[in-house]
Amino acid sequence: MLKSKQEFKEAFINKLQTLFGQSLDESSIADKYVALSTMIKEEISKLWYQSNRQYRVSKEKQVYYFSMEFLLGRLLGSNLYNLGLTEFCSEGLKELGIDLNELEAVEHDAGLGNGGLGRLAACFLDSIASLQLPGHGCGIRYRHGMFEQKIVDGYQIELPDNWLRDGYVWEVRKADRAVTVKFGGHVRLEDQGGRYVVFHENYEPVVAIPYDVPIVGANCNTVNTLRLWSAETNHFDFPSFSKGDFLKAVEKKYSLEATSQILYPDDNYPEGKTLRLKQQYFFVSAGLQSIIRRYKRTHGATPDDLAKIHKKIAIHINDTHPALAVPELMRILMDEEGLSWEDAWNTTRQTISYTNHTILPEALEKWPIEMVERLLPRMYMIIREINERFCAVLWEKYPGDWDKIRAMAIIADGYVHMAHLAVVGSHSINGVAEVHSNILKKEVMSNFYQVYPYRFNNKTNGVTHRRWLAKANSALAGIITEAIGSSWLAHPYELASLHRYAHDAELQDRIKAVKQANKNRLAQFIQEKMGIVVDPHSIFDVQVKRIHAYKRQTLNALHILDLYNRLKASPGLDIEPRTFIFAGKSATGYYLAKHIIKFINTLAQVINNDPDVGGKIKVVFLENYSVSLAELIIPAADVSEQISTASREASGTGNMKFMMNGAITIGTLDGANIEICDEVGNDNIVIFGLTAEEVLNYYKYGGYNVLDVYHNNPHLRLVVDQLTNGFLPVSPDEFNCIHHSLIRANDEFFVLKDFAAYAEAQEKINSLYRDSAHWQAMAINNIAFSGRFSSDRTVSEYAIGIWRIKPVVIREV
Ligand SMILES: *Cc1c(COP(=O)(O)O)cnc(C)c1O
Repeated sequence: MLKSKQEFKEAFINKLQTLFGQSLDESSIADKYVALSTMIKEEISKLWYQSNRQYRVSKEKQVYYFSMEFLLGRLLGSNLYNLGLTEFCSEGLKELGIDLNELEAVEHDAGLGNGGLGRLAACFLDSIASLQLPGHGCGIRYRHGMFEQKIVDGYQIELPDNWLRDGYVWEVRKADRAVTVKFGGHVRLEDQGGRYVVFHENYEPVVAIPYDVPIVGANCNTVNTLRLWSAETNHFDFPSFSKGDFLKAVEKKYSLEATSQILYPDDNYPEGKTLRLKQQYFFVSAGLQSIIRRYKRTHGATPDDLAKIHKKIAIHINDTHPALAVPELMRILMDEEGLSWEDAWNTTRQTISYTNHTILPEALEKWPIEMVERLLPRMYMIIREINERFCAVLWEKYPGDWDKIRAMAIIADGYVHMAHLAVVGSHSINGVAEVHSNILKKEVMSNFYQVYPYRFNNKTNGVTHRRWLAKANSALAGIITEAIGSSWLAHPYELASLHRYAHDAELQDRIKAVKQANKNRLAQFIQEKMGIVVDPHSIFDVQVKRIHAYKRQTLNALHILDLYNRLKASPGLDIEPRTFIFAGKSATGYYLAKHIIKFINTLAQVINNDPDVGGKIKVVFLENYSVSLAELIIPAADVSEQISTASREASGTGNMKFMMNGAITIGTLDGANIEICDEVGNDNIVIFGLTAEEVLNYYKYGGYNVLDVYHNNPHLRLVVDQLTNGFLPVSPDEFNCIHHSLIRANDEFFVLKDFAAYAEAQEKINSLYRDSAHWQAMAINNIAFSGRFSSDRTVSEYAIGIWRIKPVVIREV
C-alpha cells in the first residue's frame, strides 16, 4: 500500500469506498479519520503478527507491565510517527485537500488514567517497543475513562467520558482468549492423600474479554501488545426473565459488567470502594491467567516447568493497585498447577517487581480485612499465610519487638496493607526519583530496607521524547536536527551537543520564533475556547497538572493575587507582561481541590477585567486537561511551574516535558526537579523553598507555626485575608476551606512558609526573561540536557536492572 504517494492516495480513496461506500467528496472528516487509521492498523497488523510469532519462536523472556491506568492519549499521530509515515501521509493527504492534523483531532483521547502514573505507563510502552524489547501492558478497558471537565461559573463540572462512542479503531477484541474471574463464594480445602485440593464454590463468575491494542516501536518492526480487559457476561438470568421480571434479569448482567465501567478519578487518593478492589483483582487475575496459559503452550506445563516461570516472565506492578498479583500468582501455581507453597513462593517472588509512586500517607492503599475476605476469599487465605510466614521471619530477627512487627505486618489493625504485600512478594522495589527512593529507604520503608536492603533501588522517571518533543513540537525538533543531526531521535543523550550552540544568535532566534509560533497557536486556542485575549508576547507561565494540595496551585494563585495587589497600588509597576495558565482536574470528592479551581477562576475574573492592570497580567484556567491538551500547551510554555512541597512529589513527569520544550523551571528541590537541576546546573533553573529534609524534619519534630510567617509578612497577610474578607466577588465563606487549610490546619504543605522565597524566585524569572539572549541560552541548555529524562533511558534501566530482558529484533518477512 505505501510504496509511493500515488499508491497511498489510491489506497486511501479505495478504503473510503470499501468501508463507507463513499467517495472522497462525500465522506465526513470522521470517516476519513477511520479510513486512514484502518489503513495504518492494517500495516501495523503485519508487523504485529511477525512480532508475536518471533517472540514465540525465540522463547525470549517477556515483561508484562501491570497498571490500573494507561493514559495513552491519541494514537494515530504517534503510530504514524513511529512507523516513519508522518511526512508521507501528510503530503499525500494534502494533495487530496486534507489536513492530517484535522484528522488526528477526530480521535478521542484514550483517557484511561488520572495523571502522571497512567501517563508514565503509556510512555514506558512506547519506549519498550522502540527499544525492541519484548514487553506488554496489562490493564482495564474502562467503558468510561477520565471524566471530561467543564468549568461552569468557575466550578468544575464532571461529564462522563464516552470515548468508545464512535468505536475504537486501534483495539482488537479477542473473544476466544476470554477467561473467568471468580468473586465471593466459599473456599473449601479437601485433603486428598496428603495434598490439599481447593474447591471454590458459589462464586460469582465474571467473564474477562481481552481487547488488544498494538504498541508500535519507533523505526523498527516491533509491535507489542497492550491487553485491556473488559468485564462481559453471557450470564442471563433466565429464571427471572421467564417469570416476567425482565428488569431483574438485566440488572444482574449490568452488575456483573459494572466491573470495568468506570475509572476512579482520584489521583494519589484512593477511594476504598469494593468496586475498586474488584477492578484490581479482575484485571490482575485475568492478566495472570492469560500469561500462564501462554507460558504453558510455549515452555511446557509440568510443575517443574512452572517453577521456572521467572526465567521467562517478569511481571511489574505499577504502584500497589495490582499488588494482588502476589497472592493470585501463588493461587495459580499452587491450586491450579500443583506446586508446593515453597516452590510457588520462590517463583512468585522472583517474577514480580514493584514501583512505589508516593509517600503521601493518605495515598497508601489498605483494604478492610472483611472486604477482602468477603470478595476474595481465596486471596485472603493466601495473604494470611504470606503474612504469618513473614511475621515468623521477623520474630526470628527481632524477637519480642511486637511494635516493629505490627508496623511491618501485611495484615494489621483490621486492614490488608498493600504496600507491605508488594514489598514482601517482590524481588525489586523502586522509587521514581533519587530523592524519593532515598526517602523510601531512610524513612517510609526503612524497616523493610533493613530486612531486604538489596531489593531497593531507584529508577528515575522519563517521558517519551518522541511524543513530547518530536511530535508535539515538530518545528523545534526540525531545528534541533538541522543543528546537530538526527541521531538524537534514537539516542536522546545526544541532545547534549546543542549545548555548544546555546549562545549561537541564529539558533536562538530560530528557537525563539518557534516558541512564538507555539504561543500564538495557544493564544488563538484560548481566544476561541474562552473568549479571553492574551498577549502572545507576554511570558507564558504554566502550571498544568492534577489539582492537589501538595502540588500547591494555591502558592501560585496567592502570588498572583499579591502581584495584582502590587499592580493596583502602583499601576506603573515595571514588570514583564505575564499570562498565568492553569489546567488540571480535581478528584470528584476532593473539596479543597475543587475550591482551589474556583479560587483561580475567581482571580481570572477579577484580574482579566480590571482596566487598572493594563493587561500586564492575565489568568487563564483551561478546562479538561488531557494528553492532547498537554501537547498543545507545553510547547508554548516559557515558564514551567513545579512547586510541590519538597518531599511530596515522588518524581513528576510534567517537569520533564516542559524542559524538553525549552521552558525554564521555577521549582522546589522535589522529585526529579533535583535531577533536572543537576543536569542543567543552577544557572539554568530557578530553585526556591524548603528542602525535603527540612520538610520531613518539620513533620517529624514540629517547629513550624504558620502564624509567625503570617504576621511577619504584610503582603502575605493581605492575600490570606482577601480569601475571606469580601474582597473577592464570591460569597464570603466560599474560600473558608482554603483559609482553614492555611491557618487553622497550620499549613500542612508549607505554602506560606515558602511564599516569600517563591515571590523572590518569580522576580528572578522576570529579570532573566528581560535579557532575551540569556533566556534563549537557558532554554537551549534545558533542551540540551533533557536527554536523561527520555523514558528510553528509564526503560533500559528497568530492562537491565530489574526485568533482565534483552531486545528481540523483529525481522520483516
Ligand atoms: C504528564 C502528565 C501529567 C503528569 O504531570 P505532573 O506535572 O508530573 O503531575 C498529568 N496529566 C497529563 C495529561 C500529563 O500529560
